Amino acid sequence: MNKESIYGLTLDQLTVWLGEHGHRKFRAAQVWEWLYRKRVTAFSDMTDVHPACIAVLEEHFDISTLSEHVKQESADGTIKFLFRLADGNLIETVLMTHKFGLSVCVTTQVGCNIGCSFCASGLLPKSRDLTGGEIVEQIMKVQLHLDQEGRGGKVSHVVVMGIGEPFDNFRNLSDFLRIIKDHKGLAIGARHITVSTSGLADKIIEFTDSDLQVNLAVSLHAPNNGLRTQIMKINRAIPIEKLMQAIQYYWDKTNRRITLEYILLKDVNDQREHALQLAELIGANRQLANVNLIPYNPVDEHSQYQRSEQESIRAFYDTLKKQGVSVSVRLEHGTDIDAACGQLRSKQIKEDQAV
Ligand code: SF4
Repeated sequence: MNKESIYGLTLDQLTVWLGEHGHRKFRAAQVWEWLYRKRVTAFSDMTDVHPACIAVLEEHFDISTLSEHVKQESADGTIKFLFRLADGNLIETVLMTHKFGLSVCVTTQVGCNIGCSFCASGLLPKSRDLTGGEIVEQIMKVQLHLDQEGRGGKVSHVVVMGIGEPFDNFRNLSDFLRIIKDHKGLAIGARHITVSTSGLADKIIEFTDSDLQVNLAVSLHAPNNGLRTQIMKINRAIPIEKLMQAIQYYWDKTNRRITLEYILLKDVNDQREHALQLAELIGANRQLANVNLIPYNPVDEHSQYQRSEQESIRAFYDTLKKQGVSVSVRLEHGTDIDAACGQLRSKQIKEDQAV
């Protein structure tokens, strides 16, 4: 049976666990230091930890449950990792280099059940949630890659936008966020972490009421129910009115900005009328919203969608600006590799099946 990843325990949980197994509480801080600061890859390398403590950790936990299967490197420095989990499943993780730092996009589920009609990840239904440890370990593997490069690079930002709906795995997501924010561990600031949801309204409310305090992004992708249901079938269960009520709750309670993701699909949702409807939807909360326009990355399996023309992207942007809406266009990374989320994974699974 596969052992649990040691990275899935918060410092408090590790302290309690070691206490229950007859070890002094300070051992947890020692182990934590070896994991996140010195970044060893074997328990036996924790040279100042008592051998009996090492033995009990080795018996119950793994320090490495992910192995690198494929790595694609783009000319712009973006690196896409395909990791194999202990049960054989494949997941994607992406490292992006920005002016403001190094950012990692993590996956939270094996496959996804939300079924967005443009998405390569949604082609493969969810087979299971990732554990908190498996999500943390994606960052650790990328950090170890940076360590081996020897250029002193440190993961400074995290986006939870890879395969899966993070709020459909809320508990493990919460553990993951607490672990990577801990100032004794990776110490990634809450304002440097963004979680993106397809719009699970009840979970947006739970998130708002939690102490997680990281940035929130919501995939809107359409300004009305007809269009949104066509693009995202989740809209049938959670229509825009319900989603906007949850967003309003977030705004009222936190007074914090939200990112509204909007993928631009040629002649589908990229017309001026859609930009005007979107501005109307945001209404009086313009100062609390930023619309992030995402030029579509075509995938073979969704040939019904094409990328919007450059002029349409510009016109959409200008229309929102004129309406007083804060708007940006997502910078593209890794366009010379399998850039769309889930593309590398679905391609690899097809290749494996063909063998
Ligand atoms: S876009 Fe995200 S939520 Fe939608 S199917 Fe793809 S992975 Fe799932």
